[in-house]
Amino acid sequence: MKFGTLLQDLARSAVHNPITEKYPFEVRATPARLRGRLNWDAENCIGCGLCVKDCPSQAIELIVIDKKTKQFQLFYHLNRCTFCAQCVYSCRQECLSLSRDEWELAALNQEDFHIQYEREVDEVPCVAATDPAEA
Ligand code: SF4
Ligand code: SF4
Repeated sequence: MKFGTLLQDLARSAVHNPITEKYPFEVRATPARLRGRLNWDAENCIGCGLCVKDCPSQAIELIVIDKKTKQFQLFYHLNRCTFCAQCVYSCRQECLSLSRDEWELAALNQEDFHIQYEREVDEVPCVAATDPAEA
């Protein structure tokens, strides 16, 4: 780089704010169609299993506790999800959605990627989330 160009760049930097953002202190609004973490509405789920069947990444497991009383648990393996939204399209009950706001999904521990969803009344503490890829 020529010395003159360097001086020009330095002068420009001195009077302009940097282009970079102060993340995570300043966070931009997310795009309207951003696909973040998968959420599950347990109340409307009928346990059909279509989401599990259609997920190309084996990122969802459904545990049927009692189909008559609609008691299910859904295990979501975030570390396998590609955010393709196939499960959202497949669910006829519109139970699944990809959050627009929950996109800061990095974690230090593998366990944090295995998410267990259930209605409070369905809690079964002895059932553990496992990654199907590790089975
Ligand atoms: S968004 Fe795609 S990869 Fe993620 S759980 Fe749904 S179907 Fe599977
Ligand atoms: S496709 Fe929808 S209704 Fe069927 S098991 Fe999955 S979340 Fe429940």
